Amino acid sequence: MSNLDNINFKNSFGALSNEFYTKQNWSPLPKAKLVNFNYDLAEELGLKNVDPKALVKIFNGEISLENTDPLAMVYAGHQFGNWVPQLGDGRGILFGQIETSSGLKDLHIKGAGKTPYSRFGDGRAVLRSSIREYLCGEAMHGLKIPSSRSLIIFTGEEPVFRETTEPGAMIVRSASTHVRFGNFEYLCHNDKKELLPELMTHVIEEYFPEYNELANKFELFFESVVRKTAELIAHWQTVGFAHGVMNTDNMSILGETFDFGPFGFLENYQPDYICNHSDYQGRYAFNNQPNIGLWNCQALAAALSPIIEETALKKALESYQIYFYNHFIQLFRKKMGLLKKDPKDFELIEEILDWLMKEKIDYTNFFRNFSDFIHGDNLFSWKEKFLNRLELEKISRNQHEDIVKANNPKFILRNYLAQVAIEKAEKDDFSEVDNLLKILKDPFSEHDDFEDYASESPEWGKNLEISCSS
Ligand code: AMP
Ligand code: MG
Repeated sequence: MSNLDNINFKNSFGALSNEFYTKQNWSPLPKAKLVNFNYDLAEELGLKNVDPKALVKIFNGEISLENTDPLAMVYAGHQFGNWVPQLGDGRGILFGQIETSSGLKDLHIKGAGKTPYSRFGDGRAVLRSSIREYLCGEAMHGLKIPSSRSLIIFTGEEPVFRETTEPGAMIVRSASTHVRFGNFEYLCHNDKKELLPELMTHVIEEYFPEYNELANKFELFFESVVRKTAELIAHWQTVGFAHGVMNTDNMSILGETFDFGPFGFLENYQPDYICNHSDYQGRYAFNNQPNIGLWNCQALAAALSPIIEETALKKALESYQIYFYNHFIQLFRKKMGLLKKDPKDFELIEEILDWLMKEKIDYTNFFRNFSDFIHGDNLFSWKEKFLNRLELEKISRNQHEDIVKANNPKFILRNYLAQVAIEKAEKDDFSEVDNLLKILKDPFSEHDDFEDYASESPEWGKNLEISCSS
């Protein structure tokens, strides 16, 4: 067992002016019990050899480590388009950062109890939503989509009151950063504009050292946020992921999927799918995500306008659409087993999506079996068009099938699968969480023991109402 005191935690955010956070410890859950430990992520973080039970004690706040500097961040945001001047880590604590081979990673404890930013909340998170976040971080990672992930999840004997009484839990979330669009908005719109350069300089030093010496580093930072956001959402659209709460306080400045709430994966292809039942207007409907990504970048641009020229902000915003479509088409070609470019590809994509919508076909399974469909004896005129296009590729049927299988997951986190795992976990059986992780971490491979998990959802599981309380 390695000694945690030797691990080089730092918290560079805690070296900034104290207007950015409140330093504090957090409130343990009574009788904390391990639900799952993410060995793959632990390995990346250099924590593989640490006893998970010891980590529970540390992240539950029962044992404090010398070299840490925990804090709750303050930020603001646009929630469903409405400006909220002050939010912040109302139930989270930024524990610190660890240097890894893929850069600096934040560790953040979610469900950690009250902070000055809790407003009317209790500072806790329920086991149900914590399991969903834990599973979905791994699902996104398995799908090769940038995302926060979770290192560990544990529950405790403290009832949490939502629609009913539920078990509480904490997760330790790892993300490249916890700086959100809302951190900049908080400064700009709360008469703290003079602090914008400090936050910006911090972010560039930590995450964009290559821009450090350049005169236009602030502009380059904003361009990068626009590009990464556009590309992230393009990726979501190709796998059918609906985030559900794309408020600006849930948008990472490094383009990672972040803050999982009532998210959902499309089952039948339904572009106007709304996974968040409190989203009455459909602001965050699946097919509106690309526009919202741009809207959020515009909100960030407004917050950065005191320190970046308007022309530079506008130029970057104008490139959003190009980044989005380039990435979307590139990913979609691969989904269809195509490696070359043809100007008519976008038309092909639009037509097949339109057909999937009308026929209410399971999106994931259709593309997973796309090769069989193309070579099957259906009388669909699009198929002929596609086969002509496929000839340009000069590849064999087997090669085409291999490309399709490598780019279309067999397994996604269907709501009902998560629901079964949650119901078992609430009865102290965590085995289904573990089963799901096996397939979600490696969704492009066959898993013979879990063939059923690739089936369409059973009727009872198709339109599950996922509670938005978390
Ligand atoms: P979310 O919808 O989870 O992104 O949260 C929006 C804001 O509400 C953030 O500032 C959270 O920290 C805060 N929040 C959410 N749930 C709670 C809770 N149970 N207790 C305190 N703050 C919360
Ligand atoms: Mg949030």
